Amino acid sequence: MSASMNLTTHRVGALVVGAGGAGLRAALEAGRLVDTAVISQVFPTRSHTVSAQGGIGASLSNVEHDDWRYHMYDTVKGSDWLGDQDAIEFMCREAPSVVIELEHMGLPFSRMDDGRIYQRAFGGHTSKFGKGEVHRSCAAADRTGHAMLHTLFEECLKQGVHFYNEFYTLEILLQDGVACGVLAWDMVRGGFHLFHAKAVLLATGGYARVFRTTSNAHICTGDGAALCMRAGLPSQDLEFLQFHPTGIYGAGNLITEAVRGEGGYLLNCKDDRFMEVCAPTEKDLACRDVVSRGIAEEVRGGRGCGPQGDYALLKIDHIGKDKIMERLPGIWELAMVFAGVDCTKEPIPVVPTAHYSMGGIPTDRFARVVTPGDDGAETVVPGLYAAGEAACASVHGANRLGTNSLLDLMVFGREGGRQMGEYVASQSSWLDLSESAGSAGMAEVRRLLNGPAQRAMGPLMEQLRLDMEMHCGVFRTESDLRELKGKLAGHRAAFANLSVQDKGLAYNLDLIEALELGHMLDVCSAIAEGALARRESRGGHYRDDYPRRDDAGWHKHTLAFLEPGGGVGLDYKPVRMQPLTVDSIALAERKY
Ligand SMILES: Cc1cc2nc3c(=O)[nH]c(=O)nc-3n(C[C@H](O)[C@H](O)[C@H](O)COP(=O)(O)OP(=O)(O)OC[C@H]3O[C@@H](n4cnc5c(N)ncnc54)[C@H](O)[C@@H]3O)c2cc1C
Repeated sequence: MSASMNLTTHRVGALVVGAGGAGLRAALEAGRLVDTAVISQVFPTRSHTVSAQGGIGASLSNVEHDDWRYHMYDTVKGSDWLGDQDAIEFMCREAPSVVIELEHMGLPFSRMDDGRIYQRAFGGHTSKFGKGEVHRSCAAADRTGHAMLHTLFEECLKQGVHFYNEFYTLEILLQDGVACGVLAWDMVRGGFHLFHAKAVLLATGGYARVFRTTSNAHICTGDGAALCMRAGLPSQDLEFLQFHPTGIYGAGNLITEAVRGEGGYLLNCKDDRFMEVCAPTEKDLACRDVVSRGIAEEVRGGRGCGPQGDYALLKIDHIGKDKIMERLPGIWELAMVFAGVDCTKEPIPVVPTAHYSMGGIPTDRFARVVTPGDDGAETVVPGLYAAGEAACASVHGANRLGTNSLLDLMVFGREGGRQMGEYVASQSSWLDLSESAGSAGMAEVRRLLNGPAQRAMGPLMEQLRLDMEMHCGVFRTESDLRELKGKLAGHRAAFANLSVQDKGLAYNLDLIEALELGHMLDVCSAIAEGALARRESRGGHYRDDYPRRDDAGWHKHTLAFLEPGGGVGLDYKPVRMQPLTVDSIALAERKY
């Protein structure tokens, strides 16, 4: 082993992996109780949360009367009844308090004329249990995530949280089933670092990057779910991936739903507002899965726009230049740079883009990671927590409502941080690590660095992402998914023989990309297996050959386990249908 591949050990109380909104909110909370460190692949304010545009949902009632019960009703319905209702109730009840807390930290929200936080309409959000309109999304123009991330980072620094930036996590360390740290790679200098912790919270973000057309940043490769599966723990509901209807054609970048919330609408090549037919009540603000399929159906039916007839148009110019520049300045810029379109004058060409990972690491509503115990009943993994897009609480079920992710980050980040802090405070010492702790992660890095470069990695990753899009996208079928499984087996075999061309240790992004590719392959295998098994359509998972939701057969969560040799085994667990307090509200009106 060369000198710089030596192992450095750190002892920390609470360890957070990931510095997006969820990780920072958790670190802030834990940091108030115990010594807390964060490790992050990218500098904290470059996490994907920075690009969140439309806002954070909370029933503040600043525009019209709202209630957390209405919010809960919308979230349960939006989840296509796959969301766990105790966690959903918890999130919706906590929402106003986390937003006011952010306001008090100094997050620069947009304001109404009377000085209160500006709230805008968003798809799937209603009042009076689906009967009225509501403005629920609390926004800082169209840069809410940017404002949130900077506010939280400052608070963490003030709190004395330690940051290890540009460290890449390779392995989660479990000792007799108890979490006791992680192994990471120092991206800047090279070298292994073992973070020996009393508890670990995973906040590594989503996995939408496994699809070719995506709104997600390069880091969104599903590392958390893959690392858990490699540690023998399950991932949950990975087949549920949200395709956002309005990605910029050809680029995938997101045009926020806030554009439609502010009055924008979609057109096909005949200038028809097709969403009026697809969803007569909610129209352009129907749930994202409905609008995505609406666009895909127009394209399939020969009514798409452009020379190839393969996109729809999003019209916003009619709301006026002043309003666009005040409420949606970032969108104007994105449309200009990536589509060459001035949206104050012309419509923006859009296609569905892989956007949000509903699945992830299974947790309970306290952000504690859970796994089936020996008797099959769900048990908590001591010392291991997960929050944000990496986790599956499951508040979004089969489909997430806009603005509910930033909310999820704040509610479960805060709760997970608090739970972890209290757990760490109750542990008098660190667990002993075994001799072999971290050996799998080290072996993988050495294999990738030391083997002869047999194959360039970039094309393999691009082929994987293309295959996922072609065979497991907005529409899925048995034959497509079987073909995908065959292709994934081929990609796995290629990866097993791959080593990186850059053999250096300092800032070797070739190595990081290869490690990410390994994680993506695990995630893709679980997505494909779960999607093939699930013979129904629900939320983001649409089977052309099983177009109906099948509650008798499939009203359950998927658990995926990695088997030796790279196969994936599936198990299932029931959806939690018991809210914490509200069984009498109109949720009782739930229609199946
Ligand atoms: C363009 C866009 C717009 C959006 N707009 C909205 C919106 O308006 N409202 C809303 O509610 N939601 C929105 N979302 C969704 C929401 O922004 C994300 O779900 C959320 O920000 C994810 O936050 P996170 O903290 O879970 O992870 P991220 O912000 O993705 O951060 C992940 C962190 O994990 C770290 N990490 C990853 N892998 C490793 C590893 N192996 N080792 C060490 N560190 C690692 C990274 O460095 C990073 O710090 C949007 C998403 C996108 C892509």
